[in-house]
Amino acid sequence: MTDLPVVRGRLTQARPLNDLTWLRVGGPADYLFQPADIEDLQGFLKGLPGDVLVFPMGVGSNLIVRDGGLRAVVIRLGRGFNGIEVDGNIVTAGAAALDAHVARKAADAGVDLTFLRTIPGSVGGAVRMNAGCYGSYTADVLRKATIVTRQGEVVDLSPEELNFRYRQSDLPEGAVLISASFEGPVGDPEKLHARMAAQLQKRDETQPTKDRSAGSTFRNPAGYSSTGRADDVHDLKAWKVIDNAGMRGATLGGAQMSPKHSNFLINTGTATAADLEGLGEEVRKKVYETSGITLEWEIMRVGDPLKE
Ligand SMILES: Cc1cc2nc3c(=O)[nH]c(=O)nc-3n(C[C@H](O)[C@H](O)[C@H](O)COP(=O)(O)OP(=O)(O)OC[C@H]3O[C@@H](n4cnc5c(N)ncnc54)[C@H](O)[C@@H]3O)c2cc1C
Repeated sequence: MTDLPVVRGRLTQARPLNDLTWLRVGGPADYLFQPADIEDLQGFLKGLPGDVLVFPMGVGSNLIVRDGGLRAVVIRLGRGFNGIEVDGNIVTAGAAALDAHVARKAADAGVDLTFLRTIPGSVGGAVRMNAGCYGSYTADVLRKATIVTRQGEVVDLSPEELNFRYRQSDLPEGAVLISASFEGPVGDPEKLHARMAAQLQKRDETQPTKDRSAGSTFRNPAGYSSTGRADDVHDLKAWKVIDNAGMRGATLGGAQMSPKHSNFLINTGTATAADLEGLGEEVRKKVYETSGITLEWEIMRVGDPLKE
């Protein structure tokens, strides 16, 4: 690759991404950049040749990175981007802060962002994916997001500019989210912590939370809306049509549709990205054959397959 700007953070060439994703798969990124702070990130993006692709990544809890890796500079934020501050009922968090930490710190201060507690991603991923559960979505509470554009400028975005949809929002190409402010309802800290404990327990009972997964594999086929609003109906469940197609527990190499929750694709230990994606495609085919429904991936798949 052409000369890259000098940085204060870490810039690593041909960095495998498997240990940075929840599913533990993924070939190398051309470069992995872990900026020291905002200025470092700005300087890097300003100096980066315009034709080099940038892929910002959170903690990889919604990603299959293919086995051939990513022809891009992957930017992963860490220390320096994970602060959490509470002012009244406004919670401002760095993009690298984990959703669970944000929820806990908010609850300590009597602010209800409890829905974030059981989502295993980072704030950057939550905003980009409009993460949500138990009837609440990031779109409901986000007041402002701050990005560094591909050109290196710091810009604030309003919820309208982010254009939230089901598991999606709009960011300018190559932009990196660096922080977000949320406004949550006021609540009693003890009750908020109790609610989060109950939600964690519910997850453990119904989902393979101890396995390597990326959460729900496919969108629920009916009722998903373009708004991500809490009153959406999701009456036809992906797990149900997967069960009907006989694919609960199905395997391909080291990949499996979880016997505990059939819409969770898991790495039993030896899966490649090709196993995981291949099994997902097999499920889509079987579901189409048995019910005429085309399942849509909720997990993002990025990068190149391994060359034969
Ligand atoms: C066990 C399990 C349960 C889950 N349950 C839920 C759930 O209930 N609800 C739900 O919504 N999701 C759920 N997920 C999916 C996942 O946790 C969310 O989508 C989460 O928001 C992804 O965050 P991340 O930091 O891991 O992002 P990644 O997976 O790393 O990236 C996802 C997307 O966000 C972008 N992105 C990440 N950080 C930045 C940044 N700083 N700037 C710009 N773009 C960025 C990436 O480019 C990519 O497009 C679950 C996953 C698992 C493993």
